[in-house]
Amino acid sequence: MFGLMMDRPLLISQLIEHAAEYHGDTEIVSRSVEGPIHRYTYADAGRRSRRLAKALAALGVAPGDRIGTLAWNGYRHFEVYFAVSGIGAICHTINPRLFQEQIAYIINDAEDQFIFADLNVLAILEGLDKSLSGVRGIIVMTDRAHMPAQSVLKNLLCYEDLVLAQDETFEWPEFNENTAASLCYTSGTTGNPKGVLYSHRSTILHAFAVNGANAIGLTADDTILPVVPMFHANAWGIPYAAPMVGAKLVFPGFKMDGASLFELFEAEGVTAAAGVPTVWLELLRFCETESRSLDSLQRTLIGGSAPPRAMIERFDKAHGVRVLQGWGMTEMSPLGTITSMRRGERDLPAEAQYDLIAKQGRPIFGVSLKIVDDAGRALPKDGVAFGDLLVRGPWISGSYFHGVDPSAFTEDGWFKTGDVCTIDPHGYMTITDRSKDVIKSGGEWIGSIDLENIAMGHPSVQEAAVIGVPHPQWDERPLLIVVKRPEADVTREDLLKTFEGKVAKWWMPDDVVFVEALPHTATGKLLKSRLREDFRDYKPISAEE
Ligand code: ADP
Repeated sequence: MFGLMMDRPLLISQLIEHAAEYHGDTEIVSRSVEGPIHRYTYADAGRRSRRLAKALAALGVAPGDRIGTLAWNGYRHFEVYFAVSGIGAICHTINPRLFQEQIAYIINDAEDQFIFADLNVLAILEGLDKSLSGVRGIIVMTDRAHMPAQSVLKNLLCYEDLVLAQDETFEWPEFNENTAASLCYTSGTTGNPKGVLYSHRSTILHAFAVNGANAIGLTADDTILPVVPMFHANAWGIPYAAPMVGAKLVFPGFKMDGASLFELFEAEGVTAAAGVPTVWLELLRFCETESRSLDSLQRTLIGGSAPPRAMIERFDKAHGVRVLQGWGMTEMSPLGTITSMRRGERDLPAEAQYDLIAKQGRPIFGVSLKIVDDAGRALPKDGVAFGDLLVRGPWISGSYFHGVDPSAFTEDGWFKTGDVCTIDPHGYMTITDRSKDVIKSGGEWIGSIDLENIAMGHPSVQEAAVIGVPHPQWDERPLLIVVKRPEADVTREDLLKTFEGKVAKWWMPDDVVFVEALPHTATGKLLKSRLREDFRDYKPISAEE
């Protein structure tokens, strides 16, 4: 039709070219696996991505090929993102913290042709040597001087050799924006991991959304440090959102402890960050014991699991940092909802704002939400009714890689998140549980996350989990499992008291167990399936009567 806009494809290579041309002298700083801090600019990253793209083509990598990465957040991983997707191949990020068998399964399921690996995870691949027969080569992300002297792996290639062998003149190819760009497997607490394929179009639309002023809203004045790993839903899209606006990037490598992060935050003047609650727990504790404050940091995006309200409050009161809570899933690129306050809500007293931030957030434009009952009927968004959360949107998976588990999608085009939640009339979504973690007591649901949040608000509690344990009369009853803060002295009765007046009587945990540590998945979420297994025969006090 005459008069319409140009039909130009949205392609990931455009992001790095834009940053290289218009924010060319802005820095990218990385804590390298080899040790030292590495610094260069978007212009350098652009040049090296082009050289790497040429190197991949020279190795025979073709459009649609899957290329694995087993790597931490760093500048070479960043280059791989653009070089691989930029030539129409698929960048398959793999979590090095998964079990070996899972890693082998994922590599073979994806049929990875080459794997980029950081030096300090090479041992994982060496352990898997026999299961990697389909992989044509391992590209070690280092220079010649650091290449391992010997390895059981054949076909080891040196990253810097590949890059240095090419020049930087390269025209990124143009293709359909619905071409697959990257692949990430969901960590799956049960069953085999499932692949989620992101497209160029979904990646760029998601990056625009991340950069919205009601989301992280990055600008060229920002310095963003993604603690969230680049193998975890593409570091929540930050490696794409940052070059879109020319924000300075700081990559922490594999050192995510409080002291190492603090050092980078301070030295680089980090203004924005993103990561899961466990990471922030450590950083806040470091700041507390060392009497340090996060002076440059303005805001941090916390997601993956619910940040306890006490954490939101501590960030604000001790550091003047605004917490944004994000909720999402690997299947959603991952952002679905985020703390985006309504007009006037920023004028509320601090305590009321913390309450709002403690909710999972409101949908960003592009994501539709609805909650349904067991029969699939829509439930009201009244903040009371809770049901299974369904989502749809242009950066939400429409099916899994290889078409596995079609039951996760409805016939009319919604994705079933597996989360159980309420949505209030203003759109604030509150997760009450993962559907598989729901506690059913006397036929009624008890929200384990609410109970965990209350427990985490107690000053002596470092981490808490609530699971349902079998009960002869009530079917299941909540059991609170707690890791105390070092040197904290707290009793079962003290903890139970904190629930009084905050929840209905029948929601009160029946018992408290203190443990040294709680089990986590490879992406830092509580592994409740393991806890349920461990405490299967536990008899809460009320069951003994
Ligand atoms: P992600 O990569 O975002 O962690 P996963 O696919 O590994 O995504 O896990 C998604 C699940 O994590 C969600 O379905 C939800 O249960 C949980 N989750 C993510 N963000 C939050 C949050 N802010 N609060 C509570 N749970 C969350």
